[in-house]
Amino acid sequence: MPIIDAHVHLSGDEPESLTLLQELDIKLLNVCVVLDPGDGWRQQAGIWRSLAAEYPGHYAWCTSFNLPQTNDPGYVDNVIAALAGDFANGAVACKVWKNFGMDIRDASGAFMMVDDPLLEPIFSALEGHGKPLLMHIGEPLACWQSLEELGQDHPHYPYYSTHPEWHMYGKPGVPSHADQVAARDRVVERHPKLSIIGAHLGSLEYDVGEIARRFERFPNFAVDTSARLEDLVRQDAGRVRDFFMTYADRILFGTDLVCFSRTSQTPAAERTAVCGELRRQLSYNLAYFSTSGKFVMGDREFDGLALPAAIIDKVMGGNARRWYPGL
Ligand SMILES: [Zn+2]
Repeated sequence: MPIIDAHVHLSGDEPESLTLLQELDIKLLNVCVVLDPGDGWRQQAGIWRSLAAEYPGHYAWCTSFNLPQTNDPGYVDNVIAALAGDFANGAVACKVWKNFGMDIRDASGAFMMVDDPLLEPIFSALEGHGKPLLMHIGEPLACWQSLEELGQDHPHYPYYSTHPEWHMYGKPGVPSHADQVAARDRVVERHPKLSIIGAHLGSLEYDVGEIARRFERFPNFAVDTSARLEDLVRQDAGRVRDFFMTYADRILFGTDLVCFSRTSQTPAAERTAVCGELRRQLSYNLAYFSTSGKFVMGDREFDGLALPAAIIDKVMGGNARRWYPGL
């Protein structure tokens, strides 16, 4: 069975990319991200959808939905109808993004959290379709810490030092990391029959113990590892190993690599760089999961997890196939 990258944004449609996917024996779940109001993101969705239709062995896609507009009484019905159309067109899941809780405002001007009653019928509709919800809610804890506190060696220092717009530290009125996670947890709790995957280790990347607590509370909750390998390798390897052994069915490998435009329309150097990064990320993850003792990642050494092959197979693909039916 192929490896599955359960969280990625990569439009590889020309020989270099397709040959690589073949060689790595990997299938990609491309995830829609809705940044702006309106349906501009549908152009992206169209690319993911057609790649999945054209190369079903290598691509699947996860849809999303338009951001709420105040004063649009038809909003929820329109979203539910659009989702039904997307599932008919092969989407295996729906994604909700971190702008709920950090950017979008409700009619009163307050931040709209992901557990807002407005979204409830949408989540219930997903439950009715038997389609999972991928939730990227909140950010790493580092988002609410100062750059000084993080230090340059912190895995999230590079992002927050260059993306001040998403660095919530010191921004008055923005709900806290705990508020974001609590809102997400309430959605998970309210919909026990809805499979929910927490993107990026469920924004609990700083401690596998925090993820374990949710797994104990919520049988319908899983996480993907996308873009959080650097956080895992910095935790005690024995503790992370126990976590993987105990929750072997609920952890999905992902990279979060990004190449939104079709690689056939991307400069060759950029395309080659993305292909190289996919190869590199895959080898780092496999080295981390399988190595007993130290392995090298970039210019540093970390302790490997020495996981049994059967567990690695689940994390690298089996779990994604189970949590995303039809994938
Ligand atoms: Zn992503």
